[in-house]
Amino acid sequence: RRILHTYHGSKLRLEGVKDIIAVASAKGGVGKSTTAVNLSIAFAKKCQLKVGLLDADVYGPSIPMMMNVSRKPEITADKKMIPVESYGIKCMSMGFLVEKDAPIVWRGPMVMSALEKMTRGVDWGNLDILVVDMPPGTGDTQLTITQRLQLSGAVIVSTPQDIALMDARRGVQMFSKVEVPILGFVENMSYFKCPHCGEPSFIFGKAGAQNTAASMGYKVIGEIPLEVEIRKGSDEGVPIVISAPDSMVAKAYDDAAQNI
Ligand code: ADP
Repeated sequence: RRILHTYHGSKLRLEGVKDIIAVASAKGGVGKSTTAVNLSIAFAKKCQLKVGLLDADVYGPSIPMMMNVSRKPEITADKKMIPVESYGIKCMSMGFLVEKDAPIVWRGPMVMSALEKMTRGVDWGNLDILVVDMPPGTGDTQLTITQRLQLSGAVIVSTPQDIALMDARRGVQMFSKVEVPILGFVENMSYFKCPHCGEPSFIFGKAGAQNTAASMGYKVIGEIPLEVEIRKGSDEGVPIVISAPDSMVAKAYDDAAQNI
């Protein structure tokens, strides 16, 4: 009964945190974490906001690598974890708490208690915005997070491909069910600009997210190309908005952040 109350009670507000937004994709590997990282930094740099980044992708945390941080968080006197700061963003990830490369084989309730620790058990300080990198999919964990956290809105990341968009619709429905507004779609891997002739190729289809978003009454707030520098930035822990702040891609992330 008490546990039921803990997990299904009123939505959790985090003290000192003005807005919590989810970055979600119903499918894995479409660039959700990459988007969450670059958007977070764009919020901080372009919109001058105090930003936190919570890696709720407990089974496959990629924020430590993408933000180039892996230290364990320090603990305050009242036993709260201090987020680890990188590029001016306060980060918290399951990856800080478990051994690198160790498989995370947890059942739902353990995941939820870990997420409680990573939200309420963290001394976030004053934040304008906490970006939550959601686990991919629309299962029980995702639904519980959306029910538990007082989300101001959600950004849906999808490639233009039909199969990804079909899943993105499911993601939208999940947020609608719990009355979380959709802030817009980010179309990732929108096109590939040939490095030799400069022509764009629409590898995963053209304007797929535009059409899907429009059909549901939402807008696309960013179109991010398939670009080797983005992949390198993720792997090397220097996000493209940091390594190439004047590039077209960085501008696209900045615009997306300003459109939210
Ligand atoms: P997800 O969080 O949806 O699983 P990731 O953000 O981890 O996806 O991205 C999956 C892989 O694709 C990563 O290696 C990342 O560097 C790469 N990637 C993501 N978006 C792009 C892009 N626009 N161009 C090139 N590589 C990308």
